[in-house]
Amino acid sequence: MSGNTTRLEAINGVVGRTPTAAAKTEPLSSIWASDVFNLATMEECLSKSAFKAMKKTVQTGAPLDPATADVVAAAMKDWALGKGVKFFSHIFFPMTNITAEKHDGFIVTNADGNAITEFTGSLLIKGEPDGSSFPNGSLRMTNAARGYTAWDPTSPAYVMPTPNGATLMIPSVFFSWTGEALDKKIPLLRSNTAMNKAAKRVLTLMGETEIETLNSSCGAEQEYFLIDAHFAHNRPDLLLAGRTLFGAPSPKGQEFDDHYFGAIPERVQVFMQDFEDRLFKLGIPAKTHHNEVAPGQFEIAPFFENANVAADHQQLMMTVMKATAKAHGLVCLLHEKPFAGINGSGKHVNWSVGNSTQGNLLDPGNTPHENLNFLLFCGAVIRGVHKFGPVLRAVIASAGNDHRLGANEAPPAILSVYLGDQLEAVFNDIKEGNVSVSNEGGMMDLGLSQILPIERDPGDRNRTSPFAFTGNRFEFRAVGSAQSVSGPLVAMNTILADSLDWIADKLEVEFATGKTQLQGVAAVLKELMEVHGNVIFGGDGYSAEWHTAAVEERGLRNIPTTADALPAFLDEEVLALFERTGVLSPVELESRYEVYAEQYILSIDVEAKLTAELAKTVLYPAAMSYMSDLASAVNGAARMGVELDTIGAKTVAANANSLLATVTELEAALEPRDFESTEAHMQYCAGTVCGLMDEVRMHGDALEAEVDDKYWPLPKYREMLFIK
Ligand code: ADP
Ligand code: MG
Repeated sequence: MSGNTTRLEAINGVVGRTPTAAAKTEPLSSIWASDVFNLATMEECLSKSAFKAMKKTVQTGAPLDPATADVVAAAMKDWALGKGVKFFSHIFFPMTNITAEKHDGFIVTNADGNAITEFTGSLLIKGEPDGSSFPNGSLRMTNAARGYTAWDPTSPAYVMPTPNGATLMIPSVFFSWTGEALDKKIPLLRSNTAMNKAAKRVLTLMGETEIETLNSSCGAEQEYFLIDAHFAHNRPDLLLAGRTLFGAPSPKGQEFDDHYFGAIPERVQVFMQDFEDRLFKLGIPAKTHHNEVAPGQFEIAPFFENANVAADHQQLMMTVMKATAKAHGLVCLLHEKPFAGINGSGKHVNWSVGNSTQGNLLDPGNTPHENLNFLLFCGAVIRGVHKFGPVLRAVIASAGNDHRLGANEAPPAILSVYLGDQLEAVFNDIKEGNVSVSNEGGMMDLGLSQILPIERDPGDRNRTSPFAFTGNRFEFRAVGSAQSVSGPLVAMNTILADSLDWIADKLEVEFATGKTQLQGVAAVLKELMEVHGNVIFGGDGYSAEWHTAAVEERGLRNIPTTADALPAFLDEEVLALFERTGVLSPVELESRYEVYAEQYILSIDVEAKLTAELAKTVLYPAAMSYMSDLASAVNGAARMGVELDTIGAKTVAANANSLLATVTELEAALEPRDFESTEAHMQYCAGTVCGLMDEVRMHGDALEAEVDDKYWPLPKYREMLFIK
């Protein structure tokens, strides 16, 4: 028997490949944002008045009048045609974690049959894609299944090169004919508005008179794996599910810690350079790259931008990343846990809020007054995470992220806040009432010495916290690598808005009784800390002790799976939160729950079917080929009067039998059945289906450890992770 050769061919393919030559680097100044219709471009090609109007819209979100839109559309079209563009597309972000686009040609023919290019303000502003196939959580009946896109002028349009021609991409929102949000951008914009309104209330109470529009900012660090395409193409699980459904551990994994910040392989360096150049052309400020903990894992962190643009850029970055990898004969894996037993991938969402007049409100600042504003905003975050921890867990829930959260190298599925020793001490002092206030001038005596020198402490990191203060921002570390950053940003802006409103109500009462600013702030934060201070945790979030203490002593919730997490969207308090902040109506939030739940159920279903299929058609046959070799060896030996030990054959046979038996159970579990509710269906997937998949995998991986290497058809962990 010749054995299975596909895997060995893949290895030869990787080893024998012609290396991709390094692209010639172009100076940053000549490529930076060269494909973006940004303010700098507009200043060159718009009239002074049109440019002024656009600038105001971009910077403050002020509405744009139709006449200006016409002028902008014409200029945008000319700019794009100058770059050889023939199509335009409204790009939007449906509730799945992907992006969608519908391409239209600029060309229309006139009465003489000549082609002319036409692009008006109304075409720019509103498109009407046939969105009937986008999940909407029963928000649109199929007979009225029209989704509308509308231009978001606050996120710059750009030209996307593709092999069949360049396209002008117009960032857009996506909504139903009744005006309900069907995408991830609308709630993000609304959450920013809510945050701005509540923040202005607090700042006004704090005596600020000039307050510019506040915006949230986001810088997202993205982790990813790169493996050779030869391997990926021989792994149906990687192609369809984004992760390996089988795979025995490699004898060498990540335990040597020799990958973290180690030398980046030459091939990957060439990829990164090309990738960054593509990002620079699109105006995406990519900053660092280094090896992450696992072999084959890397990270890219663009410089932070306003949250709406950052979210669009993050989505675009993932698209560019995959395309670039492909061009280099690699496959980019964005899944949270592509390889069992190996570090998973996250997306650290760094977030802050600020404006041009008060600066970053999550930055301690240099004066006692600035520090009071800082403490209020920081306190608001603490309250929000405590009160709405399950919402933060729900927005990061996905089948993929479930494999990572709570695993020993990833943030726990318990939401707590890390502040750093100094800031934690300040908040504890406030709670204990140790911030005493003298009568004249509102100076703090004991408290002042502590609060004044709050220093930025970026080195002080607790990598085990899901939600950490990192000097001038919060870092939401539990977000999954494949997820859109929108959900997390919406949740953070919304809980902040809610808490700032709560703080404003309380401050009004305090100030009405004649308290000084300092006394008022101290009183409100004391109350806040008494109720919500429990969520602050500076210890080891990975430890077993914390998992017990968090739940039993602190009353925090450990929410291990998506099935447990998503129903938080339907809590009365949560529906009320999103409604009163104007971010999502109850109908919109319920539809989101339906869509996310459906996505979860579908992903588990695909994985389960594929697990069964691979077990039966790939792993079992490999085991049988090997068995037949063993059998002829035993028989042949017997004919020579030699008795061979059959223990190896028995082990293989036992695992092969168990494999098939478990597959039969799994297939039975996948038979269509009725569920009481979507929640019950999700629980069934998380419990029964995932449990059986794990069992099938266990037998499959045991076979991989027994079967003759030449028969094993699937590229092995050691090959995928270490051969580049
Ligand atoms: P880490 O030490 O966590 O790996 P990095 O320096 O790699 O940190 O990434 C930090 C990310 O946080 C970057 O994307 C950076 O732009 C972003 N960031 C820095 N300051 C802010 C801020 N004030 N608001 C939001 N994001 C920020
Ligand atoms: Mg980080």
